[in-house]
Amino acid sequence: MTTPTDTGTAPPKSASGRVRGPRKGTDLGQWKVSGRAPLNHNEEFKAEENSLDVKQRIIDTYSKTGYASIPTDDVHGRFRWLGLYTQRKQGVAGANTSKLDAESLSDEYFMQRIRLDGGQLSTEQARVVGGISRDFARGTADVSDRQNIQLHWLRIEDVPEMWERLDSVGLTTLEACGDTPRVFLGSPVAGVEKNAILDPSEDLAALREEFVGNPEYVNLPRKFKTAITGSPTLDVVHEINDVSFVGVNHPELGPGYDLWVGGALSVSPRLGERLGAFVSRENVVPVWAGVCGIFRDYGYRKQRTKARLKFLLAEWGPEKFRQVLQDEYLGFELPDGPAPERAVGHSDHVGVHEQVDGKRYVGFALTAGRLSGDALVALADAAEAAGSQRIRLTPHQKVLVLDVPEENVDALVAAMKPWGMDAKPSPFRRSTIACTGIEFCKLAFVETKGLAARVIDDMEQRLADVEIPTPISLHINGCPNSCARIQTADIGLKGQYIGEEYVFQVHLGGGLASPDREEGGLGRTVRGLKITADDLSDYVERVTRTFLRERGPEQSFAEW
Ligand code: SF4
Repeated sequence: MTTPTDTGTAPPKSASGRVRGPRKGTDLGQWKVSGRAPLNHNEEFKAEENSLDVKQRIIDTYSKTGYASIPTDDVHGRFRWLGLYTQRKQGVAGANTSKLDAESLSDEYFMQRIRLDGGQLSTEQARVVGGISRDFARGTADVSDRQNIQLHWLRIEDVPEMWERLDSVGLTTLEACGDTPRVFLGSPVAGVEKNAILDPSEDLAALREEFVGNPEYVNLPRKFKTAITGSPTLDVVHEINDVSFVGVNHPELGPGYDLWVGGALSVSPRLGERLGAFVSRENVVPVWAGVCGIFRDYGYRKQRTKARLKFLLAEWGPEKFRQVLQDEYLGFELPDGPAPERAVGHSDHVGVHEQVDGKRYVGFALTAGRLSGDALVALADAAEAAGSQRIRLTPHQKVLVLDVPEENVDALVAAMKPWGMDAKPSPFRRSTIACTGIEFCKLAFVETKGLAARVIDDMEQRLADVEIPTPISLHINGCPNSCARIQTADIGLKGQYIGEEYVFQVHLGGGLASPDREEGGLGRTVRGLKITADDLSDYVERVTRTFLRERGPEQSFAEW
């Protein structure tokens, strides 16, 4: 076997996490322990008012007085509560990022994230978002790996009309970013999947109804991520959310959820842990409120780098966490419950699948999540022509059309192909995802989506002679923040600036629970290996060919 530093080889064994609890006696800014005195500027501006109140100022004032008139705490702080981030100034190199403040890195344009809980989008809504993209966002529209749509190039002057249009079709940007309960990931095939453990649609709707914009949860230490699924494919990346409800069949109590907490990636990755507790459907809302309440009240607020639930879980451990949840927040004990079964089927839902009602759902791969306003409108038109009004986005940057009569499937598939939506994609087109990168993101060192498109094209040509019988996931990130989940890919790439060079650090052998691996595991950094963008296609080809040469019968990349 060759060394991993060059030609690609078996990935190192995965680790479960690198998060440690705090030193004893440190003031961590926990509200229930240290009181509410703000210990940093972020906490100060959050304490001043409900950050969602900035919405009215945008509508009444800033949209009329312009970008230059917006105070820093609003434009670089509270705007995020409405899903608005300043966009990276064009032409500022990645190497400068750590030296420049947000103001110097931003231009006067915004990224707008639209939250789509459960990835749910009607054809009417898709048409409205497509129109907004064309009219205000230079045609941009990306599908994120958290079931959101992200638009770029927005001017503050256009925000009120954009929100009115979204509101008219029941869409919102509320708490799409900020220190809030972010979009609720939900199984994109909820209610239509054959062999589902349960349909979580009503539970997801209850969470959304109860908690989006709820002032009790508007000031959290940092972001709080939720996932819920009843799919045996385990399709909501449940191991990397702050709280996850994963469908299981309890031997006595019937279908319900296994509770996971404390997962998150970024620079100190940690997979979530089971609390061993079974959550019946009527308890989803109180349990969510309890877990998020623990985060709000006990979460660390002093340093933003430590202000995620995973750090508290590392200190407490799952037993104490469950005890506090039951004793202080629920007032009753949760029954023990089973772990999820090993995943069955591919969780990205790409391809044509039969629904419970005999119709079909069709899953399309995009190229690294890139769509456009025109493509969204075309998708809405084609879906309706095929008899559907329901579109879904997945946590794998894919797009589904539900409810298609079998006889209309071929026409739908053919109609979307010219738009880069492929229901039978090549292995790398299917399994490659990329974050926003330097094109728009202030934290990025390198370009990502354009590079992903080039590598996919290269692999389709160079590997046309071989059969790749098992998915090999390639995740390309512009910086260590891991928005595209570096550590849970077969090949994860992290953009960096080292030795006056823009390079990717390589992580190999990570993955989430799937038919190929019983449990998720974090990939390991391949020490000493730095790949430039120019060399990336060569590297991916070498790793793939080495894997195909060395793999045992039926062996997946994860098992290699
Ligand atoms: Fe930006 Fe880094 Fe996230 Fe990519 S991983 S979108 S570069 S913060």
